[in-house]
Amino acid sequence: MYDVIIIGGGPAGLTAAIYARRAGLSALVLEASVCGGQIVNSPQVDNYPALPNVPGWQFATQLQGQAESLGAEILTAQAQSIEKSDRCFSVSTSSGQEECRTVIIANGAAPRRLDCPGADEYFGRGVSACATCDGAFFRGKDTVVVGGGNTAFEDAEYLSALCSSVTLINRRAQFRADEQNVESLRSRENVTIMTPWVPVEVTGDGSRVTGLRIKNTDTNEEQVLSVSGVFAAIGVQPDNRRFEGLVELDPSGYIVAGEDCLTDTPGVFAAGDTRTKKLRQLVTAASDGAMAANQAAAFIRAQK
Ligand code: NAP
Repeated sequence: MYDVIIIGGGPAGLTAAIYARRAGLSALVLEASVCGGQIVNSPQVDNYPALPNVPGWQFATQLQGQAESLGAEILTAQAQSIEKSDRCFSVSTSSGQEECRTVIIANGAAPRRLDCPGADEYFGRGVSACATCDGAFFRGKDTVVVGGGNTAFEDAEYLSALCSSVTLINRRAQFRADEQNVESLRSRENVTIMTPWVPVEVTGDGSRVTGLRIKNTDTNEEQVLSVSGVFAAIGVQPDNRRFEGLVELDPSGYIVAGEDCLTDTPGVFAAGDTRTKKLRQLVTAASDGAMAANQAAAFIRAQK
């Protein structure tokens, strides 16, 4: 039986693993795909203290290596459900059953998909939710990025170095992105920023995207951007329905937990983007990981 099973191998989960191991706890990290979470897709991390200009994949690799070198086990498996019994938890995974004394849920959040006609039909055939994964397929082509947060601005900047042109559309004139990211993108010659426009339909020739029909929400004017790539960067959403009944979720599906990472079920902690919080950043995810592991260690000590 593990002292702690950590669901998710992103910055919150891997930091939890580091702190758990340093506290002497046995720790298993369950990661459904590759470790690192959303940061893997970030071309460059510029706002983690003392680590400027680090590519996201490098940050993730170093973090994983640090957790493993301290003895954390990492299993590539999807956590499917958690059952609570007397003094332990049973976690069903895609590769079997695991037992533990405490659980840290750190499964992050997944990119939201565009919900206009054509978006699903052409997903993977010109529509993408990951510029760093798919940008190279659009070298020398015209593309559009939908969204006004840091992801949209960083994606547009990344694409502007590869693509012939990039148009960023946002549904509001105000952006959620940091001013530094906005100013940096504005200085790119092959980038056009359009507000307040929303996607109406992804158009295609049956096999590939040929354009994006957009609508101005002030004037109702419509136009079609001739693009071969449509990149959605419209935020993230949690994936916690499988934990309903074990822990309280808010109406948006985030696990209700404060800065102490405590959920309403003793022994279950929530860390990083998956929980209710104001600021979803790398540094706050790492902070949560440390807090959740510390809480797990205290819980186990109290049980003994
Ligand atoms: P975000 O900050 O939530 O921004 C989402 C953007 O998409 C907003 O402009 C939003 O508009 C728009 N949007 C949402 N739903 C939409 C829809 N259905 N149709 C059209 N537009 C829609 O998401 P994010 O950029 O993915 O960032 C997520 C978190 O990660 C944030 O906390 C962000 O700061 C952080 N992050 C940080 C960095 C960094 O610091 N380097 C990099 C990437 C991400 P409204 O504003 O009108 O809601």
